[in-house]
This record gives sequence, structure tokens and C-alpha cells, in this order.
Amino acid sequence: MSIEFLNLRRVNEPLLDEIQQAVARVVNSGWYVLGAETAAFEEEFARYCGVRHCIGVGNGLDALHLALRARGIGPGDEVIVPSNTFIATWLAVSQAGARVVPVEPNERTCNLVPDRVEAAITPRTRAIIPVHLYGQPAEMESINAIARRHGLFVLEDAAQAHGARYNGSRTGSLGDAAAFSFYPGKNLGGMGDGGAIVTNDDDLATTIRKLRNYGSTVKYRHELVAVNSRLDEIQAAILRVKLRALDSENARRSGVAAAYAKALAGIPLQLPVVAPGAEPVWHLYVVRTQQRDALQAHLRKNGIETLVHYPIACHKQQAYAGTDWPALPIAEKLQGEILSLPMAPYLTSEEIQTVAASISKHFS
Ligand SMILES: *Cc1c(COP(=O)(O)O)cnc(C)c1O
Repeated sequence: MSIEFLNLRRVNEPLLDEIQQAVARVVNSGWYVLGAETAAFEEEFARYCGVRHCIGVGNGLDALHLALRARGIGPGDEVIVPSNTFIATWLAVSQAGARVVPVEPNERTCNLVPDRVEAAITPRTRAIIPVHLYGQPAEMESINAIARRHGLFVLEDAAQAHGARYNGSRTGSLGDAAAFSFYPGKNLGGMGDGGAIVTNDDDLATTIRKLRNYGSTVKYRHELVAVNSRLDEIQAAILRVKLRALDSENARRSGVAAAYAKALAGIPLQLPVVAPGAEPVWHLYVVRTQQRDALQAHLRKNGIETLVHYPIACHKQQAYAGTDWPALPIAEKLQGEILSLPMAPYLTSEEIQTVAASISKHFS
């Protein structure tokens, strides 16, 4: 049996008829950008997250970047980000012209440590971007308390955590604003690029609506030097179908995670740790071992595809060479020890057992 890391055809298979009808509806409508589908998706996704506003944009990176810009964050400002995130979190800060201030995660949850966030605050700090990495919400209660004490903007990077909950509330409603990605491989993924910002802040939402559309709300009147970054009608129509299936797909992912945890118990492998108050949505199932490369090679030989999220920490990337970064030993240790097992709503118990048996064999 060969097991792919993720097969999007299999993810979307149960919804293909509905998706094809949604796409046909847009094709036949003759209206392809900023129309009824995008407006409907924005309303539905805002309601899903439990917030007032959703603004669809071109991708998750733009969602992060436009939220920072709308808040007036730019040159001379510092933004706190995790040292172990996907590079988009860092790029958004750099694109805004602000300075990236990396903070190390808790090794077991892989999410930001609030005390370390507070220690990194300077008079120039303007914002914190907690990332709900691998689908698990960050420790938002403590992070929000710190932000309130210091007057900072909290922007959730929720690109991996659609539908996750923290103390009963959904990601997207946990900070001042949140950025989502609808890249095809995400828990809520389209069939192309897409993203959104959600927020309860009316002014921020109004500014982002302008920023995504040439600084304009009235056609051919331009108030800001802005960008073109819009969620298109076809993606919005597909995402409306997929949003209706999100909770049941996330429940299946939880079932897969529970089955992995049961089958892998007793093996000398660090399994994912769920923090108090967190209800993750298992975007990824990430295990840890010092024998990571050997384990990955063994699984590959047995037809099981795994990935590493991420193999090179952001401060070690060529894009960020030439800056005198502080020591970031946890990010560097994690990059050598983490391994993402196949994770998708469709995985069968037979496939899960096959992966677990192969891992077990490696350690026996
Ligand atoms: C995917 C992702 C992004 C960026 O989303 P794109 O739509 O690919 O631009 C940002 N942050 C995190 C944590 C991600 O996983």
C-alpha cells in the first residue's frame, strides 16, 4: 500500500458535484470579481468565525500584510512573530516595512510562549502575530492580556486553523483581527489561491476593503496607494461549498489524530501535545524524534510519504540572511526533529494502521 502525504482529489471527491455546479453558476453569471459569491462567502465565513466582518483577498500572505498596513504598522515598528512559523508570517511584516522580532515557541505545543512574548516587547513594538501552528490555537488568553497591558495589536495567523477553538471560541475571533489562507491544502481550501481577514473592528475592515481594491470604494475614486488583492468569484463559490463541509472534515481529522495517538502510544516518539483550552483542527499531525531523517527514509521506502513543516527556520533562510538574529535554539532544534505524518479527512483506519505499523517497525 502506498500512502500519499495529501491527495486533494480525494479530499474534494465527496463534494465534486456541488463544486462543479458552483463553478458553472459563476461561469454562467458573467461576473467574475467582487460579486455576489464573494459577498455571500464573506458573510458566511464571518458568521462561522463569530465576528462582524470578513474581507476576501488574494491569499493568506496578503491577508496578514493588509491587516498590518490597515493598522498603520510600517517602518520603525516592531512586530513579534514565532521563530518556527511558515515564512509568510515573517514576509508580511517585512512587506509592511516593519521589523520582525522572533520569539521562541513551547517545544511541546510548538506555539508561542506568552512570557517570552512579553520579554521581547520594546517601546517600538506595535503588534503580535500568534500563529495557530499545525491547527492548534495559541495561548490567546495570556497573549491578549499582555497586548492589552502594552497597547499592542493582536493579529492571529489562522492560516492552519480554520474552525479550531480556544476556550470555546473559534479562531478568527480570538484577537483584534485574523488572517486566513484558502490555499488548496489548508483545512478550508479552494482550487487556487485565496485568503481573508476577519475582524470585529469596523474601521479596520473599511480600510482593508479599500486596500485590497486599489484604495477605492467608489469606482475610479482612489483614496490610498494600495494593492489589487481580491478573492475571485469562482474561489468564493467553491469555498461556500467547502465551508459547509468544514466541521465534518475537521471532525474526521480529529478521529485520525486520535487513531494515530492510540496506535503510536509506547513508541519512543514525541506525539503532538494539546494545550489546556485548545481544540485543534489537525491541519498537520507532527511527531518529533532525533532519528527524524532515518524514520522519514524508512517510511519512504515503505511507500509512506511524509513532509517537514518546516525544514529551514525562517532566520536561516537566504531571504533573511544578513540580519543579526538572536540565538533561536528551539526553532533550530525543531527543524531537525519534526515530521508530519499523512493527515487528511479521508484517511481510513487501514491506512492509519499501516503508517503506525511502519513507524513501530522502525523503532523495534
Ligand atoms: C499557508 C500559510 C500562510 C500563507 O498563506 P498563502 O495563502 O499561501 O499566502 C501564512 N501563514 C501560515 C502559518 C500558513 O500556513
